[in-house]
Amino acid sequence: MPHSWSVFLDRDGVLNRKAPEGDYIKTWAEFSWLPGSLEALRQLHQAGLRILIVTNQQGVARGLIRPRDLDDIHQRLQAEVSQAGGHIDRIYVCPHLAGTCECRKPGTGLFLAAAQEFPDLAFERSVVVGDSPTDLEPGRRLESRTVLIGPARSVPGMQADAVALTLLDAVDRFILPWTTRDG
Ligand SMILES: [Mg+2]
Ligand SMILES: [Zn+2]
Repeated sequence: MPHSWSVFLDRDGVLNRKAPEGDYIKTWAEFSWLPGSLEALRQLHQAGLRILIVTNQQGVARGLIRPRDLDDIHQRLQAEVSQAGGHIDRIYVCPHLAGTCECRKPGTGLFLAAAQEFPDLAFERSVVVGDSPTDLEPGRRLESRTVLIGPARSVPGMQADAVALTLLDAVDRFILPWTTRDG
């Protein structure tokens, strides 16, 4: 099925619970889905959207996350999504230290890598979802739509096209209406 729209999802704080400040999700045992995120992923897939995860994981460069554990987390994540009727097309990771690469968000490197890999991907037909300004800045620069996940007043001055409490809320109220009704 051809994809007309793509959705770029941050991982921690959007799909799964964030680790405590200064810590990382280092193994699958530490990964826990946020309520509704599997259902949200199922709905996005059923609607024919391409689903890409873009995630900063500098714990890898800091030696706190083993690359093979990160791969394991992502394999299991993708398997659980598929089991729930969804599908993740690709996961893009920046494993580098802040300030040492072009791909760590708010840089656009992970997004540009996706555009290389999927030639029909268009940023103006993409939605970028994240729980921090760092996630949304590349989306704004690439002229995609942006959705902040969090309490409406949690990020003062944050410029997002929409704010939703959860990914499922964002899918129902914004992402599906934007992508399936105004094509
Ligand atoms: Mg996050
Ligand atoms: Zn990087």
